[in-house]
Amino acid sequence: MRAISLASGSKGNSTYISSDDVNILVDIGLSCLNIEKRLKKIGVNPSNIDAILITHEHTDHCKGIGVFAKKYGTKVYFPQCGYDFLIGQLMGVNPKQIIPFTSSQFTIKNTTINAFELPHDSHFCYGYSIEKNGQKISIATDLGHTNYKIIQNLQNSDIVFLESNHDENLLINNPNYSASLKSRILSPRGHLSNINCAKTIEQLVYSGVKQVILAHLSEENNTPILAYNTIVDYLKSVGIIEGKHVFIDIAPQYDVGNLFEIRNTII
Ligand SMILES: [Zn+2]
Ligand SMILES: [Zn+2]
Repeated sequence: MRAISLASGSKGNSTYISSDDVNILVDIGLSCLNIEKRLKKIGVNPSNIDAILITHEHTDHCKGIGVFAKKYGTKVYFPQCGYDFLIGQLMGVNPKQIIPFTSSQFTIKNTTINAFELPHDSHFCYGYSIEKNGQKISIATDLGHTNYKIIQNLQNSDIVFLESNHDENLLINNPNYSASLKSRILSPRGHLSNINCAKTIEQLVYSGVKQVILAHLSEENNTPILAYNTIVDYLKSVGIIEGKHVFIDIAPQYDVGNLFEIRNTII
């Protein structure tokens, strides 16, 4: 399996994940044109995208879905409970392409998808695990906190894209943010801070996760180096060494990220 972040952060999110039989985009929070450019950069023809999985209805995750799905005939998957909040964005898309799911586990071709709820201030929000041939790639962004069920879904993943949204001090002291916006972000249904991301990674490492990509970093209340250092320092304090027990990378906002490939194929 392979995974590449195409965009990550409040200006737009999209992650490309592929197995040997499917090409998936989790969210298209950029214009269709921008996604086409980024797919071209990684050598993927947009017509070969089999499915778009939607996490939630916020614009930074949905912006280009309708135009892309209409242009390429791509199937769009999201939980049934999100139907009323997404259908407006999918106007003109062939109804056969719109697939609201009711079960937390389903398949696309022979690849298994597990969907799990995330606590966020949207009408619905889901993370996804994509599994094939004993390999597993998971994504969880836009979540105010983690809980046992989320950890359970992420554990044993080969690769996890996990939100590391903000540094709590930078956010609290940011003069450009209103008190209500700060409390929304800091709430249990807001966004995951660097330190809470670090504590989540600690739990994931014990379950065998070896690669984590920090995602959805705030431009104003975080920096890639601050997120990385906060997490690496915390992990070190609990005896987990980055580069030995776990590898940490960062998904950039304005460019495609690094390619991650699971090589030790178990077939
Ligand atoms: Zn959101
Ligand atoms: Zn978001």
